Amino acid sequence: MANKEIPYKIYLEESEMPKAWYNLRADMKNKPAPLLNPATGKPMSAEELSDVFCAELARQEVDEDTAYFPIPEEILSFYKMYRPAPLVRAYCLEEKLKTPAKIYYKFEGNNTSGSHKLNSAIAQAYYAKKQGLTGVTTETGAGQWGTALSMACAYLGLDCKVYMVKVSYEQKPFRREVMRTYGASVTPSPSMETEVGRRILEKHPGTGGSLGCAISEAVEVATNTPGYRYVLGSVLNQVMLHQSIIGLEAKAAMDKYGIKPDVIIGCAGGGSNLGGLIAPFMGEKLRGEADYRFIAVEPASCPSLTRGAFAYDYCDTGMVCPLAKMYTLGSNYIPAPNHAGGLRYHGMSPILSQLRADGLLEAISVPQTEVFAAAEYFARAEGTLPAPESSHAIKAAMDEAIRCRETGEEKTILFGLTGTGYFDMYAYEKFHDGKMTDYIPSDEEIQKALSYLPDMSKYDL
Ligand SMILES: *Cc1c(COP(=O)(O)O)cnc(C)c1O
Repeated sequence: MANKEIPYKIYLEESEMPKAWYNLRADMKNKPAPLLNPATGKPMSAEELSDVFCAELARQEVDEDTAYFPIPEEILSFYKMYRPAPLVRAYCLEEKLKTPAKIYYKFEGNNTSGSHKLNSAIAQAYYAKKQGLTGVTTETGAGQWGTALSMACAYLGLDCKVYMVKVSYEQKPFRREVMRTYGASVTPSPSMETEVGRRILEKHPGTGGSLGCAISEAVEVATNTPGYRYVLGSVLNQVMLHQSIIGLEAKAAMDKYGIKPDVIIGCAGGGSNLGGLIAPFMGEKLRGEADYRFIAVEPASCPSLTRGAFAYDYCDTGMVCPLAKMYTLGSNYIPAPNHAGGLRYHGMSPILSQLRADGLLEAISVPQTEVFAAAEYFARAEGTLPAPESSHAIKAAMDEAIRCRETGEEKTILFGLTGTGYFDMYAYEKFHDGKMTDYIPSDEEIQKALSYLPDMSKYDL
Protein backbone atom coordinates (compact mmCIF):
# COMPACT_ATOMS: atom_id res chain seq x y z
CA MET A 1 0.00 0.00 0.00
CA ALA A 2 3.05 2.25 -0.20
CA ASN A 3 3.07 5.31 -2.47
CA LYS A 4 -0.67 5.70 -2.47
CA GLU A 5 -1.46 9.36 -1.97
CA ILE A 6 -4.87 8.84 -0.37
CA PRO A 7 -4.48 7.38 3.13
CA TYR A 8 -6.28 4.18 4.08
CA LYS A 9 -8.32 6.18 6.56
CA ILE A 10 -9.17 9.84 6.25
CA TYR A 11 -9.88 11.47 9.58
CA LEU A 12 -10.93 15.04 10.20
CA GLU A 13 -9.25 17.10 12.89
CA GLU A 14 -11.55 17.95 15.77
CA SER A 15 -11.54 21.54 14.52
CA GLU A 16 -12.74 20.41 11.08
CA MET A 17 -15.81 18.62 12.42
CA PRO A 18 -19.20 19.99 11.31
CA LYS A 19 -20.75 22.42 13.81
CA ALA A 20 -24.26 22.46 12.33
CA TRP A 21 -26.65 19.84 10.93
CA TYR A 22 -27.88 20.35 7.37
CA ASN A 23 -31.61 20.29 6.63
CA LEU A 24 -31.95 19.00 3.06
CA ARG A 25 -35.62 20.06 2.92
CA ALA A 26 -34.47 23.69 2.67
CA ASP A 27 -33.09 22.95 -0.83
CA MET A 28 -35.88 20.64 -2.04
CA LYS A 29 -38.24 22.19 -4.58
CA ASN A 30 -40.90 19.59 -3.89
CA LYS A 31 -41.01 19.40 -0.10
CA PRO A 32 -41.92 16.11 1.58
CA ALA A 33 -45.63 15.99 2.40
CA PRO A 34 -46.50 16.94 6.00
CA LEU A 35 -47.50 14.46 8.71
CA LEU A 36 -51.29 14.38 9.03
CA ASN A 37 -53.44 14.08 12.10
CA PRO A 38 -55.29 10.76 11.64
CA ALA A 39 -58.39 12.18 13.35
CA THR A 40 -58.81 15.21 11.08
CA GLY A 41 -56.62 14.60 8.03
CA LYS A 42 -55.02 18.03 8.63
CA PRO A 43 -51.23 18.66 8.80
CA MET A 44 -49.83 18.30 12.31
CA SER A 45 -48.47 21.55 13.75
CA ALA A 46 -45.34 21.57 15.89
CA GLU A 47 -47.61 22.26 18.84
CA GLU A 48 -49.75 19.16 18.21
CA LEU A 49 -46.64 17.06 17.66
CA SER A 50 -45.25 18.14 21.02
CA ASP A 51 -47.79 15.94 22.81
CA VAL A 52 -45.74 13.01 21.53
CA PHE A 53 -42.28 14.46 20.84
CA CYS A 54 -40.40 16.99 22.91
CA ALA A 55 -40.88 20.58 21.77
CA GLU A 56 -37.57 21.29 20.02
CA LEU A 57 -37.74 18.02 18.09
CA ALA A 58 -41.31 18.81 17.03
CA ARG A 59 -40.03 22.19 15.78
CA GLN A 60 -37.23 20.48 13.81
CA GLU A 61 -39.77 18.03 12.39
CA VAL A 62 -41.87 20.69 10.69
CA ASP A 63 -39.11 23.16 9.70
CA GLU A 64 -38.54 22.92 5.95
CA ASP A 65 -36.84 26.29 5.47
CA THR A 66 -33.88 26.54 7.86
CA ALA A 67 -30.88 25.06 6.06
CA TYR A 68 -28.51 24.79 9.04
CA PHE A 69 -29.22 23.97 12.69
CA PRO A 70 -26.24 24.69 14.99
CA ILE A 71 -25.37 21.56 16.99
CA PRO A 72 -25.58 22.35 20.72
CA GLU A 73 -22.20 22.37 22.52
CA GLU A 74 -23.19 19.41 24.76
CA ILE A 75 -24.00 17.25 21.74
CA LEU A 76 -20.78 18.29 20.00
CA SER A 77 -18.77 17.15 22.99
CA PHE A 78 -20.61 13.81 23.08
CA TYR A 79 -19.90 13.44 19.33
CA LYS A 80 -16.20 13.96 20.07
CA MET A 81 -16.24 10.77 22.17
CA TYR A 82 -16.71 8.64 19.04
CA ARG A 83 -16.50 10.98 16.05
CA PRO A 84 -15.27 11.91 13.53
CA ALA A 85 -16.08 8.53 12.00
CA PRO A 86 -13.36 7.39 9.61
CA LEU A 87 -13.75 7.57 5.86
CA VAL A 88 -11.96 4.47 4.63
CA ARG A 89 -10.48 3.87 1.18
CA ALA A 90 -11.21 0.20 0.56
CA TYR A 91 -7.85 -0.55 -1.05
CA CYS A 92 -7.97 -4.23 -0.04
CA LEU A 93 -11.46 -4.73 -1.45
CA GLU A 94 -10.52 -2.96 -4.69
CA GLU A 95 -7.50 -5.23 -5.06
CA LYS A 96 -9.50 -8.37 -4.37
CA LEU A 97 -12.19 -7.32 -6.87
CA LYS A 98 -9.50 -6.30 -9.43
CA THR A 99 -11.52 -3.19 -10.14
CA PRO A 100 -10.31 0.16 -11.46
CA ALA A 101 -13.06 1.76 -9.33
CA LYS A 102 -12.09 3.68 -6.23
CA ILE A 103 -14.20 2.58 -3.29
CA TYR A 104 -14.69 4.58 -0.11
CA TYR A 105 -16.88 3.81 2.87
CA LYS A 106 -17.94 5.90 5.82
CA PHE A 107 -17.73 3.64 8.87
CA GLU A 108 -20.31 4.39 11.58
CA GLY A 109 -19.75 1.25 13.70
CA ASN A 110 -16.98 2.78 15.83
CA ASN A 111 -18.98 3.09 19.05
CA THR A 112 -20.27 0.51 21.53
CA SER A 113 -23.84 0.65 20.24
CA GLY A 114 -22.28 -0.36 16.93
CA SER A 115 -24.16 1.85 14.47
CA HIS A 116 -24.96 5.36 13.23
CA LYS A 117 -28.09 5.48 15.44
CA LEU A 118 -26.17 7.11 18.27
CA ASN A 119 -25.92 10.33 16.21
CA SER A 120 -29.65 10.94 16.62
CA ALA A 121 -30.10 9.18 19.98
CA ILE A 122 -27.87 11.68 21.76
CA ALA A 123 -29.63 14.62 20.09
CA GLN A 124 -33.11 13.34 21.00
CA ALA A 125 -32.13 12.51 24.59
CA TYR A 126 -30.48 15.93 24.95
CA TYR A 127 -33.60 17.87 23.93
CA ALA A 128 -35.78 15.71 26.19
CA LYS A 129 -33.48 16.36 29.14
CA LYS A 130 -33.30 20.08 28.37
CA GLN A 131 -37.09 20.27 28.43
CA GLY A 132 -37.05 18.82 31.96
CA LEU A 133 -38.53 15.45 30.98
CA THR A 134 -37.68 12.39 33.07
CA GLY A 135 -37.82 9.62 30.53
CA VAL A 136 -38.36 8.42 26.98
CA THR A 137 -39.93 5.35 25.39
CA THR A 138 -39.09 3.78 22.07
CA GLU A 139 -39.25 0.65 19.97
CA THR A 140 -36.33 -1.36 18.68
CA GLY A 141 -36.17 -4.08 16.06
CA ALA A 142 -32.72 -5.53 15.60
CA GLY A 143 -31.70 -3.67 18.77
CA GLN A 144 -29.22 -1.06 17.55
CA TRP A 145 -31.54 1.88 18.10
CA GLY A 146 -32.52 0.71 21.59
CA THR A 147 -28.86 0.28 22.46
CA ALA A 148 -27.90 3.71 21.14
CA LEU A 149 -30.75 5.38 23.01
CA SER A 150 -29.86 3.52 26.23
CA MET A 151 -26.28 4.81 25.98
CA ALA A 152 -27.46 8.38 25.40
CA CYS A 153 -29.97 8.22 28.27
CA ALA A 154 -27.38 6.78 30.65
CA TYR A 155 -25.04 9.66 29.78
CA LEU A 156 -27.72 12.28 30.47
CA GLY A 157 -29.51 10.58 33.38
CA LEU A 158 -32.86 9.90 31.66
CA ASP A 159 -35.10 6.83 32.10
CA CYS A 160 -35.34 4.71 28.98
CA LYS A 161 -38.08 2.19 28.27
CA VAL A 162 -37.61 0.05 25.17
CA TYR A 163 -40.20 -2.15 23.42
CA MET A 164 -38.22 -4.74 21.50
CA VAL A 165 -39.78 -6.77 18.69
CA LYS A 166 -40.32 -10.19 20.26
CA VAL A 167 -38.51 -12.33 17.64
CA SER A 168 -35.41 -10.27 17.99
CA TYR A 169 -35.72 -10.13 21.82
CA GLU A 170 -35.51 -13.91 21.69
CA GLN A 171 -32.86 -14.14 18.95
CA LYS A 172 -30.58 -11.45 20.34
CA PRO A 173 -30.44 -11.83 24.13
CA PHE A 174 -27.07 -10.06 24.28
CA ARG A 175 -28.48 -6.92 22.66
CA ARG A 176 -31.03 -6.85 25.45
CA GLU A 177 -28.31 -7.21 28.09
CA VAL A 178 -26.31 -4.34 26.62
CA MET A 179 -29.39 -2.12 26.93
CA ARG A 180 -29.93 -3.25 30.53
CA THR A 181 -26.28 -2.54 31.26
CA TYR A 182 -26.97 1.06 30.28
CA GLY A 183 -29.96 1.07 32.62
CA ALA A 184 -32.84 0.71 30.15
CA SER A 185 -35.87 -1.48 30.78
CA VAL A 186 -36.58 -3.82 27.87
CA THR A 187 -39.98 -5.42 27.18
CA PRO A 188 -40.68 -7.91 24.38
CA SER A 189 -43.40 -6.56 22.06
CA PRO A 190 -46.31 -7.10 21.73
CA SER A 191 -46.72 -7.17 25.51
CA MET A 192 -49.59 -7.30 27.98
CA GLU A 193 -48.41 -3.95 29.42
CA THR A 194 -50.32 -1.82 26.95
CA GLU A 195 -53.82 -1.70 25.60
CA VAL A 196 -52.62 -1.89 22.01
CA GLY A 197 -50.31 -4.80 22.88
CA ARG A 198 -53.19 -6.74 24.46
CA ARG A 199 -55.38 -6.01 21.42
CA ILE A 200 -52.70 -7.24 18.99
CA LEU A 201 -52.01 -10.39 21.08
CA GLU A 202 -55.71 -11.22 21.18
CA LYS A 203 -55.92 -10.99 17.38
CA HIS A 204 -52.56 -12.68 16.68
CA PRO A 205 -51.62 -14.92 19.62
CA GLY A 206 -48.02 -16.14 19.37
CA THR A 207 -46.98 -13.36 16.96
CA GLY A 208 -43.28 -12.49 16.85
CA GLY A 209 -44.17 -8.83 16.70
CA SER A 210 -43.14 -6.10 14.30
CA LEU A 211 -41.69 -2.60 14.44
CA GLY A 212 -45.17 -1.22 13.76
CA CYS A 213 -46.57 -2.98 16.90
CA ALA A 214 -43.66 -1.91 19.08
CA ILE A 215 -44.07 1.72 17.98
CA SER A 216 -47.74 1.67 18.98
CA GLU A 217 -46.86 0.33 22.44
CA ALA A 218 -44.07 2.84 23.02
CA VAL A 219 -46.28 5.76 21.94
CA GLU A 220 -49.09 4.62 24.23
CA VAL A 221 -46.80 4.43 27.24
CA ALA A 222 -45.17 7.81 26.47
CA THR A 223 -48.51 9.59 26.18
CA ASN A 224 -49.81 7.98 29.41
CA THR A 225 -46.72 8.63 31.54
CA PRO A 226 -46.19 12.14 32.92
CA GLY A 227 -42.76 13.55 32.06
CA TYR A 228 -42.23 11.07 29.23
CA ARG A 229 -42.03 11.47 25.47
CA TYR A 230 -41.68 9.05 22.60
CA VAL A 231 -38.57 8.99 20.41
CA LEU A 232 -38.01 7.27 17.06
CA GLY A 233 -34.71 6.19 15.53
CA SER A 234 -35.44 6.59 11.82
CA VAL A 235 -37.98 7.73 9.19
CA LEU A 236 -38.70 11.17 10.73
CA ASN A 237 -37.35 14.44 9.31
CA GLN A 238 -35.66 15.29 12.63
CA VAL A 239 -33.67 12.02 12.46
CA MET A 240 -32.53 12.76 8.88
CA LEU A 241 -31.39 16.17 10.14
CA HIS A 242 -29.22 14.70 12.94
CA GLN A 243 -27.83 12.02 10.63
CA SER A 244 -26.62 14.67 8.17
CA ILE A 245 -23.48 14.62 10.32
CA ILE A 246 -22.51 11.44 8.40
CA GLY A 247 -22.60 13.12 5.00
CA LEU A 248 -21.14 16.42 6.21
CA GLU A 249 -18.11 14.64 7.64
CA ALA A 250 -17.76 12.39 4.59
CA LYS A 251 -17.89 15.40 2.28
CA ALA A 252 -15.41 17.40 4.37
CA ALA A 253 -12.99 14.44 4.35
CA MET A 254 -13.34 13.98 0.58
CA ASP A 255 -12.98 17.70 -0.10
CA LYS A 256 -9.73 17.67 1.87
CA TYR A 257 -8.24 15.38 -0.75
CA GLY A 258 -10.15 16.71 -3.75
CA ILE A 259 -12.16 13.50 -4.13
CA LYS A 260 -15.55 13.65 -5.81
CA PRO A 261 -17.77 10.57 -5.69
CA ASP A 262 -19.66 9.56 -8.85
CA VAL A 263 -22.10 7.31 -7.06
CA ILE A 264 -23.27 7.25 -3.45
CA ILE A 265 -24.86 4.10 -2.07
CA GLY A 266 -26.60 3.32 1.19
CA CYS A 267 -28.84 0.68 2.68
CA ALA A 268 -32.37 1.82 3.44
CA GLY A 269 -34.62 0.64 6.24
CA GLY A 270 -36.40 3.78 7.36
CA GLY A 271 -33.88 5.88 5.44
CA SER A 272 -31.92 7.68 8.15
CA ASN A 273 -28.35 6.67 7.34
CA LEU A 274 -28.88 7.07 3.62
CA GLY A 275 -30.65 10.38 4.08
CA GLY A 276 -27.79 11.56 6.28
CA LEU A 277 -25.02 10.31 4.00
CA ILE A 278 -26.41 11.85 0.83
CA ALA A 279 -27.69 15.11 2.36
CA PRO A 280 -24.89 17.57 1.48
CA PHE A 281 -24.24 15.91 -1.90
CA MET A 282 -27.95 15.92 -2.78
CA GLY A 283 -28.05 19.56 -1.66
CA GLU A 284 -25.37 20.37 -4.29
CA LYS A 285 -27.34 18.46 -6.91
CA LEU A 286 -30.57 20.27 -6.04
CA ARG A 287 -28.81 23.65 -6.23
CA GLY A 288 -27.28 22.68 -9.58
CA GLU A 289 -23.70 22.85 -8.28
CA ALA A 290 -22.69 19.24 -8.89
CA ASP A 291 -24.10 15.95 -10.07
CA TYR A 292 -24.06 12.55 -8.40
CA ARG A 293 -25.94 9.25 -8.65
CA PHE A 294 -27.66 8.13 -5.46
CA ILE A 295 -28.73 4.53 -4.88
CA ALA A 296 -30.90 3.16 -2.05
CA VAL A 297 -30.53 -0.56 -1.40
CA GLU A 298 -33.28 -2.48 0.34
CA PRO A 299 -34.01 -6.14 1.09
CA ALA A 300 -36.00 -8.04 -1.55
CA SER A 301 -38.22 -9.29 1.28
CA CYS A 302 -39.17 -5.78 2.44
CA PRO A 303 -39.12 -3.70 -0.77
CA SER A 304 -40.92 -0.46 0.10
CA LEU A 305 -39.05 1.85 -2.31
CA THR A 306 -38.96 -0.57 -5.22
CA ARG A 307 -42.40 -2.18 -4.99
CA GLY A 308 -44.45 -0.18 -2.49
CA ALA A 309 -47.00 2.56 -3.13
CA PHE A 310 -46.23 6.28 -2.68
CA ALA A 311 -49.18 7.16 -0.46
CA TYR A 312 -50.26 8.34 2.95
CA ASP A 313 -50.07 5.47 5.45
CA TYR A 314 -50.01 4.76 9.14
CA CYS A 315 -46.54 4.72 10.69
CA ASP A 316 -47.55 1.99 13.15
CA THR A 317 -49.73 -1.12 13.33
CA GLY A 318 -51.99 0.26 16.06
CA MET A 319 -52.74 3.33 13.86
CA VAL A 320 -52.15 5.78 16.71
CA CYS A 321 -49.32 7.75 15.05
CA PRO A 322 -49.67 10.55 12.48
CA LEU A 323 -50.06 9.58 8.84
CA ALA A 324 -46.99 9.97 6.65
CA LYS A 325 -46.79 10.17 2.87
CA MET A 326 -44.12 7.70 1.90
CA TYR A 327 -43.28 4.63 -0.14
CA THR A 328 -44.96 1.93 1.90
CA LEU A 329 -45.94 -1.72 1.85
CA GLY A 330 -48.84 -1.05 4.23
CA SER A 331 -48.64 -0.88 8.01
CA ASN A 332 -49.70 -4.54 8.32
CA TYR A 333 -46.80 -5.76 6.22
CA ILE A 334 -44.47 -8.07 8.12
CA PRO A 335 -41.46 -9.55 6.29
CA ALA A 336 -41.33 -13.36 6.07
CA PRO A 337 -39.97 -15.07 9.23
CA ASN A 338 -36.78 -16.22 7.44
CA HIS A 339 -35.79 -12.57 6.86
CA ALA A 340 -32.63 -11.97 8.90
CA GLY A 341 -31.07 -8.80 7.62
CA GLY A 342 -32.87 -5.98 9.45
CA LEU A 343 -34.33 -3.10 7.36
CA ARG A 344 -37.80 -4.45 8.09
CA TYR A 345 -39.87 -1.27 8.45
CA HIS A 346 -42.94 -1.15 6.16
CA GLY A 347 -42.42 2.50 5.11
CA MET A 348 -39.64 4.91 4.18
CA SER A 349 -38.59 8.43 5.17
CA PRO A 350 -40.93 11.02 3.56
CA ILE A 351 -37.83 12.99 2.45
CA LEU A 352 -36.27 10.02 0.63
CA SER A 353 -39.70 9.02 -0.70
CA GLN A 354 -40.15 12.46 -2.27
CA LEU A 355 -36.63 12.37 -3.77
CA ARG A 356 -37.42 8.94 -5.21
CA ALA A 357 -40.75 10.15 -6.64
CA ASP A 358 -38.91 13.09 -8.24
CA GLY A 359 -36.41 10.75 -9.90
CA LEU A 360 -33.45 12.04 -7.86
CA LEU A 361 -32.84 8.78 -5.98
CA GLU A 362 -32.52 5.33 -7.55
CA ALA A 363 -33.57 2.24 -5.63
CA ILE A 364 -32.74 -1.45 -5.96
CA SER A 365 -33.51 -4.51 -3.88
CA VAL A 366 -31.27 -7.50 -3.17
CA PRO A 367 -31.97 -11.02 -1.83
CA GLN A 368 -30.49 -11.81 1.56
CA THR A 369 -28.26 -14.75 0.61
CA GLU A 370 -26.43 -12.43 -1.81
CA VAL A 371 -26.20 -9.82 0.94
CA PHE A 372 -24.55 -12.26 3.33
CA ALA A 373 -22.20 -13.53 0.60
CA ALA A 374 -21.11 -9.91 0.04
CA ALA A 375 -20.77 -9.40 3.81
CA GLU A 376 -18.44 -12.37 4.07
CA TYR A 377 -16.40 -11.29 1.05
CA PHE A 378 -16.05 -7.82 2.54
CA ALA A 379 -15.07 -9.12 5.99
CA ARG A 380 -12.33 -11.26 4.46
CA ALA A 381 -11.02 -8.37 2.37
CA GLU A 382 -11.31 -5.39 4.71
CA GLY A 383 -11.35 -7.06 8.14
CA THR A 384 -14.40 -5.31 9.53
CA LEU A 385 -17.36 -7.57 10.34
CA PRO A 386 -20.32 -5.72 8.81
CA ALA A 387 -23.90 -5.57 10.06
CA PRO A 388 -26.33 -7.37 7.73
CA GLU A 389 -28.10 -4.04 7.15
CA SER A 390 -24.87 -2.36 6.01
CA SER A 391 -24.11 -5.34 3.81
CA HIS A 392 -26.95 -4.38 1.47
CA ALA A 393 -24.88 -1.33 0.57
CA ILE A 394 -21.71 -3.45 0.33
CA LYS A 395 -23.44 -5.76 -2.15
CA ALA A 396 -24.51 -2.86 -4.37
CA ALA A 397 -21.09 -1.15 -4.15
CA MET A 398 -19.32 -4.41 -5.08
CA ASP A 399 -21.66 -4.93 -8.06
CA GLU A 400 -20.92 -1.39 -9.23
CA ALA A 401 -17.16 -2.01 -8.86
CA ILE A 402 -17.45 -5.28 -10.80
CA ARG A 403 -19.25 -3.42 -13.62
CA CYS A 404 -16.32 -0.98 -13.64
CA ARG A 405 -13.94 -3.93 -14.00
CA GLU A 406 -15.87 -4.96 -17.10
CA THR A 407 -16.09 -1.50 -18.65
CA GLY A 408 -12.74 -0.18 -17.43
CA GLU A 409 -14.39 2.89 -15.85
CA GLU A 410 -12.52 4.41 -12.91
CA LYS A 411 -15.59 5.48 -10.99
CA THR A 412 -15.41 6.74 -7.45
CA ILE A 413 -17.92 4.93 -5.24
CA LEU A 414 -18.91 6.04 -1.74
CA PHE A 415 -21.04 3.83 0.46
CA GLY A 416 -22.26 3.89 4.05
CA LEU A 417 -20.97 1.13 6.32
CA THR A 418 -23.53 1.74 9.03
CA GLY A 419 -22.48 -0.74 11.67
CA THR A 420 -20.88 -3.91 12.92
CA GLY A 421 -22.43 -7.38 12.96
CA TYR A 422 -21.28 -8.78 16.30
CA PHE A 423 -24.84 -9.39 17.49
CA ASP A 424 -25.95 -10.94 14.22
CA MET A 425 -24.03 -14.18 14.43
CA TYR A 426 -27.26 -16.18 14.53
CA ALA A 427 -27.99 -14.91 11.01
CA TYR A 428 -24.38 -15.47 9.90
CA GLU A 429 -24.61 -19.01 11.33
CA LYS A 430 -27.68 -19.75 9.23
CA PHE A 431 -25.84 -18.47 6.18
CA HIS A 432 -22.73 -20.54 6.87
CA ASP A 433 -24.78 -23.67 7.53
CA GLY A 434 -26.53 -23.22 4.19
CA LYS A 435 -29.86 -22.79 5.95
CA MET A 436 -30.55 -19.26 4.83
CA THR A 437 -33.18 -18.91 2.13
CA ASP A 438 -34.51 -15.99 0.13
CA TYR A 439 -38.08 -14.90 0.25
CA ILE A 440 -39.48 -12.52 -2.30
CA PRO A 441 -43.11 -11.56 -1.75
CA SER A 442 -45.49 -12.09 -4.68
CA ASP A 443 -47.35 -9.19 -6.29
CA GLU A 444 -50.55 -10.59 -4.76
CA GLU A 445 -49.08 -10.43 -1.24
CA ILE A 446 -47.99 -6.86 -1.75
CA GLN A 447 -51.34 -5.85 -3.25
CA LYS A 448 -53.09 -7.44 -0.26
CA ALA A 449 -50.95 -5.54 2.24
CA LEU A 450 -51.53 -2.32 0.27
CA SER A 451 -55.29 -2.80 0.41
CA TYR A 452 -55.06 -1.72 4.06
CA LEU A 453 -53.79 1.76 3.23
CA PRO A 454 -55.97 4.42 4.87
CA ASP A 455 -58.84 5.69 2.77
CA MET A 456 -57.91 9.35 2.35
CA SER A 457 -61.22 10.22 0.72
CA LYS A 458 -62.85 10.15 4.16
CA TYR A 459 -61.07 13.39 4.95
CA ASP A 460 -62.49 16.58 3.57
CA LEU A 461 -59.19 17.97 2.25
C1 LIG B 1 -31.01 0.79 11.89
C2 LIG B 1 -29.90 0.44 11.02
C3 LIG B 1 -29.99 0.60 9.63
C4 LIG B 1 -31.23 1.05 8.92
O1 LIG B 1 -31.84 2.19 9.35
P1 LIG B 1 -31.92 3.50 8.44
O2 LIG B 1 -32.79 4.40 9.22
O3 LIG B 1 -32.50 3.10 7.13
O4 LIG B 1 -30.55 3.99 8.33
C5 LIG B 1 -28.89 0.31 8.86
N1 LIG B 1 -27.76 -0.16 9.41
C6 LIG B 1 -27.64 -0.33 10.74
C7 LIG B 1 -26.35 -0.86 11.29
C8 LIG B 1 -28.70 -0.04 11.58
O5 LIG B 1 -28.56 -0.21 12.89
